[in-house]
Amino acid sequence: MGMDAYAERARRELRATGETARKRQVETRGELTAQEAAGAKMWATETQWEIIDRCLQLHGGYGYINEFEIARLWRDARVQRLYGGTTEIMRDLIGRSLGF
Ligand SMILES: Cc1cc2nc3c(=O)[nH]c(=O)nc-3n(C[C@H](O)[C@H](O)[C@H](O)COP(=O)(O)OP(=O)(O)OC[C@H]3O[C@@H](n4cnc5c(N)ncnc54)[C@H](O)[C@@H]3O)c2cc1C
Repeated sequence: MGMDAYAERARRELRATGETARKRQVETRGELTAQEAAGAKMWATETQWEIIDRCLQLHGGYGYINEFEIARLWRDARVQRLYGGTTEIMRDLIGRSLGF
């Protein structure tokens, strides 16, 4: 896949993620359960991380240098998997709701 096509796909996926989250917010009208919130948080942050990490990879070594915006995006995406409840804790909550 060429760089433009890849960037377009990343944009599409990010847009879809945002739209799904907004739609879900409207649908739940404040009735989001802790398990659903954990699922949404885990899915959104892991998807963001996967996309941004692949975008950095496209930049090669320059992607790691602070002068390039992708480096900041990558660092910011990484912390999403930690604060507000780590991905492991989200998985734990989801697992418990499934009876594990
Ligand atoms: C930039 C930033 C801003 C923050 N802002 C706030 C804020 O405004 N308010 C606030 O209250 N907190 C805030 N925090 C704290 C944040 O919520 C915690 O860092 C986060 O909950 C993880 O806790 P911890 O750092 O103590 O890691 P730990 O709990 O020590 O976890 C370390 C690792 O062990 C894993 N782990 C821990 N327990 C389990 C388990 N039972 N099963 C499997 N794996 C496990 C974790 O997933 C993680 O990978 C912030 C953190 C950062 C980095």
